[in-house]
Amino acid sequence: MIDLHCHILPGMDDGARDLLESIEMAKKAIEQGIHTIVATPHHLNNRYENPKLTIIDRVRELNKVLLEEKIDLNVLPGQETRIYGEMVEDYEIGEIMPIDNTEYVLVEFSSGHVPRYTEQLFYDLQTKGLIPVIVHPERNQEIIERPDILYKLVEKGALTQVTAGSICGDFGKKIKSFSLQLIDANLTHFIASDAHNTSNRPFKMREAFDMVQAKYGTDMVYLFKENAELVIEGSHIYKEVPERIKKKKFFNIF
Ligand code: FE
Repeated sequence: MIDLHCHILPGMDDGARDLLESIEMAKKAIEQGIHTIVATPHHLNNRYENPKLTIIDRVRELNKVLLEEKIDLNVLPGQETRIYGEMVEDYEIGEIMPIDNTEYVLVEFSSGHVPRYTEQLFYDLQTKGLIPVIVHPERNQEIIERPDILYKLVEKGALTQVTAGSICGDFGKKIKSFSLQLIDANLTHFIASDAHNTSNRPFKMREAFDMVQAKYGTDMVYLFKENAELVIEGSHIYKEVPERIKKKKFFNIF
């Protein structure tokens, strides 16, 4: 299994603090059945800055250590890019790191909010050949309240990634229900861990796929796992026609 979103690189953000923690995470990943992980450190924050070349260097170093430790996990470079106005310009100067240099780029919204310029920025990114993948939309307050925002972005070609822990209920009942509604409405395309450590933000991939298997069956599990593989191959992924989440249905659930 492939994990497209994980904070496994040591000392780069709020994920693994040092190499020992990275190795611990790598071992857990193997236990989960993960053979390939995309390391996606946060790009910019007031505490850290992780441009493309730094990430590529650190991934190379971590893979070397994993080889020495005989841990059979392949780490690929990626980035969790907080949306900002100059993303296209910064992509062109080599600041932004799409998933393993494919066309897929992980985009995070500031918590609780979707900037008004998102639609235009996504259009501009797509014009440059990139496909924005919105990470954990199920945890964004504005999207929870107005799921049509997400529908419109997906309709125009954006993809989304739900976090495994959300499906397992780690972020509460509401977020779990909303995650399942996103799957029901074809509004999500990937399940990834967004693991930060092995304690309070672990992988939960196996557990999430067990849930998906129980609720939707094997085909849905296969679709999500296959989509992650297609991303790494740089191929087009499977997409069903997105549907609107009806307000009535939405409120009934809570
Ligand atoms: Fe993340």
